[in-house]
Amino acid sequence: MNTDFLIIGSGISGLNFALQAAKKGQVTLITKKKLIDSNTNFAQGGIAAVLDKTDNIERHMEDSLKAGAYHNNKKALKFMIKNSKSAIKKLIELGVKFEEKNGELQLTKEGGHSTKRIAYIGDFTGHEIEKILIKEVLSNPQIRIFEDCFALKLIKSNTSCDGAIIIHKNTIKSIFASNTTLATGGIGQVYKHTTNPHIATADGIAMGIEIGAKLKDMEFIQFHPTALAKNTKPKFLISETVRGEGAKLVNSKGEYFMQKLHPLKDLAPRDIIAKEIFEQLKFGPVYLDIRHKSKKFLTQRFPKIYKRLKDFKISMEKDLIPVTPAAHYLCGGIQTNLNGQTCIPHLFCFGESSGTEVHGANRLASNSLLEALVFSNQIAKSLKKRNISRTSISLPKHINLSPTQSKKIKYLKSKIQNIMWKYAGISRNLDKIQKKGLPSIEKIIEELEKFKGANQTLQESKNLALCAKTIMKAALKRKESLGCHQVVEAFSSNFS
Ligand SMILES: Cc1cc2nc3c(=O)[nH]c(=O)nc-3n(C[C@H](O)[C@H](O)[C@H](O)COP(=O)(O)OP(=O)(O)OC[C@H]3O[C@@H](n4cnc5c(N)ncnc54)[C@H](O)[C@@H]3O)c2cc1C
Repeated sequence: MNTDFLIIGSGISGLNFALQAAKKGQVTLITKKKLIDSNTNFAQGGIAAVLDKTDNIERHMEDSLKAGAYHNNKKALKFMIKNSKSAIKKLIELGVKFEEKNGELQLTKEGGHSTKRIAYIGDFTGHEIEKILIKEVLSNPQIRIFEDCFALKLIKSNTSCDGAIIIHKNTIKSIFASNTTLATGGIGQVYKHTTNPHIATADGIAMGIEIGAKLKDMEFIQFHPTALAKNTKPKFLISETVRGEGAKLVNSKGEYFMQKLHPLKDLAPRDIIAKEIFEQLKFGPVYLDIRHKSKKFLTQRFPKIYKRLKDFKISMEKDLIPVTPAAHYLCGGIQTNLNGQTCIPHLFCFGESSGTEVHGANRLASNSLLEALVFSNQIAKSLKKRNISRTSISLPKHINLSPTQSKKIKYLKSKIQNIMWKYAGISRNLDKIQKKGLPSIEKIIEELEKFKGANQTLQESKNLALCAKTIMKAALKRKESLGCHQVVEAFSSNFS
């Protein structure tokens, strides 16, 4: 199969980029489950942008820099924030209905923001955006869509990326493309506890690594402070906008512990709150308290969260909500320039898989949907159709896994997740990563390599293992704490 633009992934970045690329040529969009299955669909809080008269670009930049421990690329950050208002306007023109009152957008607040600047739709912003973008993509005759279509590997010639090898309906095929785009989203499934859905298995990161794409800031994994402390997979998120509307964190002794710890109190940046909750949990449960709000307000403002909590017999207006941190967001990724171009000609990357460097060492809340949107709005000059000299490539053979093989792979996957939670989680001991965590992951990689042939479940576990190794290696290089890379101990001689 041949196409002008191959786009892998159907979250906000893949769908939005498909609409831009369709203005220049024929697009093929593939996604490994259904179109709606994405991290985007789970986004609750909203999109940050300079929308209020009292706000400005410098202020949004300063908040992002403070949250990111000043590790952010200022040029990329300014570019994103400068284009934030027009990106929101474009979504509204497509039909996204953000909350309004008397014709004015309603804005909310999240951690690290010094003012209200987040446009939202109830507590299901991502789902609404995803729905509208899907509608647009489906009605565009220039866009061809394949669901349940898994990208296995990228095709690389001597000079460029020329497409991808895919698994579709248990068959291996190749798609040659003038330009290939990774819009494959997050990596949350690398960890035992995550808010990310099951699709977030780091496929794009792994495919990029395998053909030599440069990575950036892979040690910075953001842990969301307030996932619901119940035994679900993935963990259900209690959006930061709940704290934005006045919820406070309280420990088992009844102490509202964030009040004295940070000037922004319960709306301090995520890395600070996640670390504090992690410490508090050693002594007993931690809760969110929003009991001062009425049932009417809570059911209107947070319909999805309210309903989900009811499943656990928790009434927001009456009960404390038990919370725990969980892996949430990859701040780094495949390094790109402002056009989404990676270091490999004709390979682009947008959204959570990309390393635009706007987030620095810790993402400011609600800057990620914005990043995905603004960068995928670009149509680079280098996005030209071209003739690809199709060298014959050997395609791997598809295999079906036996029950024993499936069991073994599932076991290895959960081992990766446990190792990463233990060694490369919220607090990191570099000695332990080097002497225990990394060797254990390398052993799992060897185990997985013993399986021959191509299979989606197998490949996802291989991708998770490769990504885990990359995170640990990046963590080992950064010897001091910065943002969401928190080192409790660097290298000591008396490691046991
Ligand atoms: C619970 C939750 C709440 C969040 N809330 C907010 C919020 O309020 N505001 C905010 O700014 N951000 C939020 N985020 C983060 C934000 O949702 C994501 O960063 C963003 O949606 C990522 O978009 P994306 O297009 O890069 O990837 P995704 O939306 O994850 O899409 C990736 C797509 O790639 C597909 N894919 C992956 N691998 C392959 C493969 N090998 N072959 C084919 N297809 C593949 C997936 O199936 C999926 O369709 C939240 C995230 C979560 C999990």
